[in-house]
Amino acid sequence: MIRGFNGSINDIADTDLAILSVGSIEQHGPHLPVITDWAIADAVGKGLAEKTGGMYIPALPISTNKENRGKKGSVGMHSDTFYRMITDICLDLKAQGFRKIGIVQAHGGIFVMKPIVRELNADYNPELMVAQLDMLEICWPKFKPMGILETDTELHSGEGETSMMLHLYPELVDMSKAVDFVPSVKRSDLNYGGFLRYCPDGVWGEATKGTAEKGKRMLELSINELAAEMERIFAIMQNKQPMNGSWF
Ligand SMILES: [Zn+2]
Repeated sequence: MIRGFNGSINDIADTDLAILSVGSIEQHGPHLPVITDWAIADAVGKGLAEKTGGMYIPALPISTNKENRGKKGSVGMHSDTFYRMITDICLDLKAQGFRKIGIVQAHGGIFVMKPIVRELNADYNPELMVAQLDMLEICWPKFKPMGILETDTELHSGEGETSMMLHLYPELVDMSKAVDFVPSVKRSDLNYGGFLRYCPDGVWGEATKGTAEKGKRMLELSINELAAEMERIFAIMQNKQPMNGSWF
């Protein structure tokens, strides 16, 4: 049973946890579709809802991705619009009796997520608790040390994202067009110029090393890691007592 996917509203009534996942529609090189981040967000969110009993919400496809301008295919919005949208969704869930929300983030370019989560918790703990589950921070550093991936050079469309898409949607991946490219710039340089200036193919990583088997293991590990991290985060918030009048 995945609440919110199969079953009815009657099956959702007994949970106070919602899983909201967020992806992006953006260029993913010559071998992957522009829906890649949405597809990964949706699969991970669905798996996390199944594992934890929370309500699955279909992944939001559009977020913030100014860094991916330069070729048609990327669709995004400004950070303040996204801030309002996520805040509204979380408060709507709160008004219906949800107390815990896990936000799965499968796109690295949503820098506004941190203030959204921090301010929701500061303003609404303990009635509402929101956990930020950023795959780039929680899952990706583990893939190479655990022997799932061969490389740790990826920021976008490399070995890992290619592997996950080969597992989830093999019919959408064209490995004959996969390329390896690791630029000599830093991730923060995306504040000063678009992705395609540094990575002409739209790939930052080693896409040719992607396999479906690696993607399957990445998905399983991601769901387990995010479930554990979400439990840890909610325990922090649940165990707080007011401090000089503040619950935060
Ligand atoms: Zn991506």
